[in-house]
Amino acid sequence: MKRYPFLNLAKLNAPYSEEMKEAACRVIDSGRYIGGGEVTDFEQELASYIGSGYAVGVSNGLDALRLIIKAYMIAGKLKKGDTIVLPAETYIASALSATDNRLSIRAVSSDDSAPGCPKMIDIASVDVKAVMPVHLYGRACWNEELDKLKRDGVVVIEDNAQAIGATLADGRRTGALGSAAAISFYPTKNLGAVGDAGAVTTDDPDIAAIVRALANYGSDRRYHNVFMGYNCRLDPLQAAMLRVKLRHLDEENARRQATADAYCSTIVNPLVQLPVNDGRSVWHQFVVKISDGLRDEFRHFLAVRGVESDVHYPRPFYEQPCYSTAVINVDSSTRLSTAEFCDSIVSLPIAYTSVAEAIEISDIINGFHN
Ligand SMILES: *Cc1c(COP(=O)(O)O)cnc(C)c1O
Repeated sequence: MKRYPFLNLAKLNAPYSEEMKEAACRVIDSGRYIGGGEVTDFEQELASYIGSGYAVGVSNGLDALRLIIKAYMIAGKLKKGDTIVLPAETYIASALSATDNRLSIRAVSSDDSAPGCPKMIDIASVDVKAVMPVHLYGRACWNEELDKLKRDGVVVIEDNAQAIGATLADGRRTGALGSAAAISFYPTKNLGAVGDAGAVTTDDPDIAAIVRALANYGSDRRYHNVFMGYNCRLDPLQAAMLRVKLRHLDEENARRQATADAYCSTIVNPLVQLPVNDGRSVWHQFVVKISDGLRDEFRHFLAVRGVESDVHYPRPFYEQPCYSTAVINVDSSTRLSTAEFCDSIVSLPIAYTSVAEAIEISDIINGFHN
């Protein structure tokens, strides 16, 4: 039986492995293992790719989010206890960055067609100081409401961990839409390092400078510590890998789009609801919904036919044990709709799946209950 793996990172990196090995050797031979030109060059290339004024390399995506919030606190725009709105469907890292900084979380559900885009209508009566739209599954979450909130002085923090390269119809890229944005270069992300890495992008020079200092023991220059900071720097070795792969990101994302197009034009099973395919996604995940409580049966049906699948994510962050005693504001209708959402989603293979394989998988899917 043919197998359709969900992911194969070594194969994903194989086309660039020679270039990556050369770059790794360059770093090893340079003797510069913290900071230096490899990091600053990557930061410049990243800022120019995203279209943001600044990019600061950091240790990973969660630290990027934590440092952004911390920087807005230092800048006096946020304080302990302030309310931040998060989409209920997001990965727990979005929430951890807020609770780590003692913000109060209000989890809000999203429009059916746009997971990760919090419905702001739900929170009109709450005094919101910050919002974290999440470009979940790689689709750019942005709308006029978020634009207006940003203009009104609400801190809009994009969780851009899953969507590097995604664009709006007007050509603006995720990472350049909100007040500041966090990117993750976790190996499975669309731009993946060979280990942990992340970045903050923003147009605000003060926030960029505070994040940069916080990530380096809170120092603005050598042996001068203005904040009680951390060690959350980006390694030059990872920066060198990312410089190679950033040059190929658009082709990789175009390949994912072709696979998504193939799925969207060939899956015709009425039990399977397809994601919106409107040119705003870089398809970090291809997530379908299975109606009528048949999700687990569907996954089993795929598995016995060689198709691996996954669920992103099986339960909402606020139902994780770590938050069992924490106060997360979630109303009952959000709880209900998010539980339904979590029980109906399935991620199909996309990262390392050709158009031909997507068509074969679609044929299998079309045979479910038919
Ligand atoms: C991966 C991810 C993060 C965290 O990034 P790390 O680099 O793994 O710390 C944050 N938010 C979302 C939505 C993610 O998918």
